[in-house]
Amino acid sequence: MSIEKVKDNVYAITDGSTRGNVAAYVLPTQIVFVDSGMHIPLIKKFREYIEKETGKKASTLFITHEHGDHVFGNQIFEDCEIITSELANEAMIKSKQNDWTPINIEEWKKNAEDPTALEGLQIVFPNKTFADEYEMVDGDVKIIVKRTGGHTEGSSYVYCPNYKVMFGGDNLFNHSFPWGGTPTADPLKWIKALEEYLSLDVEHYIPGHGSTSDKKPLEEFRAYLNKVVTLMQDMFVEGKSEEEILEAADKIGYYPPRREQWKALTLKRWYDVVLN
Ligand SMILES: [Zn+2]
Repeated sequence: MSIEKVKDNVYAITDGSTRGNVAAYVLPTQIVFVDSGMHIPLIKKFREYIEKETGKKASTLFITHEHGDHVFGNQIFEDCEIITSELANEAMIKSKQNDWTPINIEEWKKNAEDPTALEGLQIVFPNKTFADEYEMVDGDVKIIVKRTGGHTEGSSYVYCPNYKVMFGGDNLFNHSFPWGGTPTADPLKWIKALEEYLSLDVEHYIPGHGSTSDKKPLEEFRAYLNKVVTLMQDMFVEGKSEEEILEAADKIGYYPPRREQWKALTLKRWYDVVLN
């Protein structure tokens, strides 16, 4: 694990060691963390390191969305306010009932690259939710959290205008094809979210996966998404079949996905939304 000092008062882990990226914003009197990754011992170390380094205490954990690789370290922040959107919280509750069963968790532990990553895992739910937007002020520093949808319907970003830093969660997979195959993924909302991100005064974007960046990877991804959506709409009007449309969409050049099966599932989901 390497802890990256994004700039004064902002730290992140983006090297993949925690699976989903995590970040810490150091405010005048407290530390705010964003996402908790999927590696409990490393998240514990991260929190301890930032608290020691700054002499301040963690008060809050914002969760960008409900996926396990962004919430399985929540137990390290049990004493904090854990805040997410209502929709992300509902989706977490559903996942606990359907997917995060003891049997599945045992299976993930066995197959994890680091067998200690999920040792002692307890699913800890957020203890505070918001519908669409949440604001936090500490001295002259403000944190704005806003739900946009895109990767999932409950997906939010966490923006600090003072530090000019934004954590985009899984609406940003810098330099790789995103996972967009979840049942609530929406490419049209995703494009709108990217436009909003690009309109903000931001110097450093922290993605859910991949490395911290300027605006460039966002512009590339927005252009790609626009191309896919336009192609799907145009070919549909021309009377092409779903198979032909998905085949053509697959040929539009972009970065490869982290997992091979992601691309076809994502394009299929986008097709269903765009041509619904
Ligand atoms: Zn995700």
